[in-house]
Amino acid sequence: MPTGKKRILLVLADEDTVRLLDKHILAGTAYSVAVARTCEEARRAVGGVRPDLLVLGDGLPDGDHLELAADLLERQPTLPIILFSSSQSKSLPRQAIRLGLVDWITPPVGVDDFQAAVQRGLSRSQHWQDWLHQESTRYTGPLLQQVDELQTLARVGRSVTAELELDRVLSAVVDAAVTLTQAEEGSLLLLDEESGDLTMRAARNFKDEFVRTFRMKANDSLAGQVLESGEPLFIDSENPLKLDTEYLVQSLIYVPISAHGKTIGVLGVDNRQSSRGFEARHAMLLTALADYAAVAIENARLFAETEVERGKLEKILTHNTDGVVVTGLNDSLVLMNPAARKALGVDESDIAGRLAADVIGDRTVLQLMSGESQNTSQVDIQGADGRVYDLQLTAIADIGAVLTLHDISSLKEIDRLKSDFVNTVSHDLRSPLTAILGYVELVGRVGPVNEQQAEFIQRAIASVKNITELITDLLHLGRVELGLDEFETVALLPIIRGTLEGFQPLAHEKSQSLKLDILGNLPVVEGNPVRLRQVLDNLVGNAIKYTPAGGTVDIRAEVQEGQVILRVSDTGVGIPPEEQSRVFERFYRATNVPRETPGTGLGLAITKQIVENHGGRIWVESASTGTTFTVVLPVAQPETKKAAR
Ligand code: ADP
Repeated sequence: MPTGKKRILLVLADEDTVRLLDKHILAGTAYSVAVARTCEEARRAVGGVRPDLLVLGDGLPDGDHLELAADLLERQPTLPIILFSSSQSKSLPRQAIRLGLVDWITPPVGVDDFQAAVQRGLSRSQHWQDWLHQESTRYTGPLLQQVDELQTLARVGRSVTAELELDRVLSAVVDAAVTLTQAEEGSLLLLDEESGDLTMRAARNFKDEFVRTFRMKANDSLAGQVLESGEPLFIDSENPLKLDTEYLVQSLIYVPISAHGKTIGVLGVDNRQSSRGFEARHAMLLTALADYAAVAIENARLFAETEVERGKLEKILTHNTDGVVVTGLNDSLVLMNPAARKALGVDESDIAGRLAADVIGDRTVLQLMSGESQNTSQVDIQGADGRVYDLQLTAIADIGAVLTLHDISSLKEIDRLKSDFVNTVSHDLRSPLTAILGYVELVGRVGPVNEQQAEFIQRAIASVKNITELITDLLHLGRVELGLDEFETVALLPIIRGTLEGFQPLAHEKSQSLKLDILGNLPVVEGNPVRLRQVLDNLVGNAIKYTPAGGTVDIRAEVQEGQVILRVSDTGVGIPPEEQSRVFERFYRATNVPRETPGTGLGLAITKQIVENHGGRIWVESASTGTTFTVVLPVAQPETKKAAR
């Protein structure tokens, strides 16, 4: 209701009357006075801020004042209008009453009379407004109550979806039940399947102790009836019922809480003191709340189940001897089991949500996880615990990636023992083989041999040479594995050219084109020139060997971000995809190459070892035709040269 000064609108054409009323009669009173001089102005003023009282004079220039009154009252029936007539007329009272005006005044105007008329008009207006307010409240009251109920239901509904803690949701349900039904008490009872007892899971206005210890047999209680029938139960004040020895209620409603077609509990409200009963509407509200409770209980059950499963998975991962690291889609860590923490030197602190780079120190691991490392098939690291781990990274759609760390220390040890053995044996075989070759070559010189004998001698020589080549490779590998080579600053270009010149005659013989492509200036690297030449010779030699006549072999070299990148590509027979990771293994020869092709299967093993000794990496890409081997070597850093060694 508007407060402050009452607004009076004077609709008068005559200036003298306006002055009389405004300046003399109404001046200093608790009214705010506005003036309209035409019907038009009056309509506009009333259409704007509604006046509390209107004084309407005759003789308006643009229309009949009584028509104006009728028009205004049609739009605002509660607007009090006092007719101010300039002349006495017999018909005036009749006209005023017929139109529904509150009063009429004719000159001469007495101050008291006019003020009294204004007072009457205003109080009439106030009465109308009060009556209107009362009526509208009568009609909107139930609507507001329903809105309130819906809002409470919506609030409880939201808490069901937002809260995982079951007790809190159930308490909110009982609170809402009590508030909406204006009951004295509320409770939520759930059936304990094993014992068949009902326990109180949430309550309002019950003594704490009672709630905690409440437990009753379902089958001999009112709630039990609801459980069995699945139907709401009403008790009203005419039939007070004993719920339990100490418990007497005047009125009560119980509604079932159902999940998957089974009643699992009861939501109830009651009045012990008040004789006020409940209505059917209350049962509907309780049923809606009971549904929320059922959803919350189901959510909690599913959550508990998921937790159990999660717990099992966690146990499996914790006890797994392989290290497991799981990352999310944004490279943040999700999980790291104890074996992985040991291998990566990460303490027991919580790593969930942290970036892998902030937690893991090992560069090789980080490069593999970030996808920087091109060679992802076989990556080994020396763990923080001194053991050797083989890393495997697997991308998992919609989750991220899983890195497993498998301890291969014992395999490495066996490998080392085997290498030692092979080295010793190879070394010991060299002298007798040299002797055999020398004597076989002498046979032809010390006397005549027939054609067949000459052929046998040639075969023996070829076989001995093969064995010698194998032994030479084995010894190379052994030496390279020991990593005892002297390092110096090496310019790569002369080495590459040396290889190119060395293989040019062979390429020519096979009608292959052997090309060199150097992009920019090649910087120096830190390394052993003999070993680096061996790398290039192996790669170019293989490219020529496994490329049919007429093919092409390209050597490319360039520098990128502090690394020299060497690529040897050919248009040859290629390497089957499933075998590409194995060609660096000792003695491995791909199945698409005929068995009689000369070779020991050691060249790439030696090459890889040399590259790694130089702090570099090597990998292969190959399709059904054509193979590219890529070698990446770090550019020599003058200031860190010594430290790096
Ligand atoms: P090998 O003495 O057999 O050449 P390597 O260790 O050098 O031994 O190579 C291992 C195997 O890898 C070869 O037997 C061959 O199957 C495959 N290979 C190596 N380089 C190439 C290439 N450029 N094209 C096709 N296959 C290749």
